[in-house]
Amino acid sequence: MRTLRIVPHLRSSVVEEMPPDQALLFTSERDDTDVSLYAHRDVRPFSWPALVRALRDPELELLEVAEPLWTAEWVRALRYAVLARLLRPRFPRSRRRVAVATYAIENLDAHDRLRRFPDRPLLGPVVSRLRLLATGASMLLLDAVVFGTTGAAENHRRAFGWALRRTRHAVLPPRLGPCSVCGPVDGAGEREPTVLFLGTPSERKGFGSLMAAWELSGATDRGWRLLVADPEGAREHDGLPTGVTVRVAPPRAEVHALLRTAAVVAMPSVRRPGWREQIGLPLVEGLAHGCRVVTTTETGLAPDLGDHPQVVLTAPGDVDDLADGLRRAMAPAPAGMSAYSGHTKGDVVAWWLDAVGARRGT
Ligand SMILES: [Zn+2]
Repeated sequence: MRTLRIVPHLRSSVVEEMPPDQALLFTSERDDTDVSLYAHRDVRPFSWPALVRALRDPELELLEVAEPLWTAEWVRALRYAVLARLLRPRFPRSRRRVAVATYAIENLDAHDRLRRFPDRPLLGPVVSRLRLLATGASMLLLDAVVFGTTGAAENHRRAFGWALRRTRHAVLPPRLGPCSVCGPVDGAGEREPTVLFLGTPSERKGFGSLMAAWELSGATDRGWRLLVADPEGAREHDGLPTGVTVRVAPPRAEVHALLRTAAVVAMPSVRRPGWREQIGLPLVEGLAHGCRVVTTTETGLAPDLGDHPQVVLTAPGDVDDLADGLRRAMAPAPAGMSAYSGHTKGDVVAWWLDAVGARRGT
């Protein structure tokens, strides 16, 4: 094992994209996690003995931890990183230092993300400033950072430019196709007149706007349907517009099948207090399967996707604009190429190993 990833929330896509020579420890599982996927992989629940065992592996070169702006996870990550630094030299067969890396996609402004006590005019700014400084200082423990979007890179440079100057970093947006499970899918071929909404139907994912825009778009009259694949099914789905159906907790294989056949994926995310869309898995998965994607400018990838022929960007929370976006997404995609260049998780890990190898002089 050359790399160890400690992942806060295990989901199926994390296992599907695992590069070779990687082991994975997870602290919790998402509802969409398909256990059969990791039956033959080095994937197990996090425990301190499991981490110590991994740190004894002489082949281990790199530890990937959660990103700094995910505060609770980052506090845990610092403990893992410090343990690696302290323990590693004590194992006789594994004296090589383990580098620490992170993949950062947080797109909500760091000042907003770390703000505390907004109603306290004196205490609030002081505590928020201290949190910002402490987060920047703790980032000095990182050897390498890869940003998953231009939006995330700009956010971190604004807040932590001084800390990043001491760390190797790069922007490597995710690869947008083909799917690592299904292989290449013909995006130009005949598709079912279906719009997919993948995920929990919440306000921040723009579900309310989507329902209103769906009615406004007149899609049902034109023979289209909207399918909601809700992994949890925690809330009632009464009073949905005509043409909208809900599938609760579909197995992973069914999600891939839906993505291979549906024409459009909708991910109309809106900003909420304390939350902003980072990348959006439905966007990545939709494009990986040749779907057209209608989304909003809230994703951190929006600056990277402006010229993508399969992507329709709309204004967040604007029902008229979203209805117009749905109509455009349901029409055949215009010809053209995007300058977008994406990277697999394997590419990211290879970049980290190169970066920390160069630093070590190996
Ligand atoms: Zn697939």
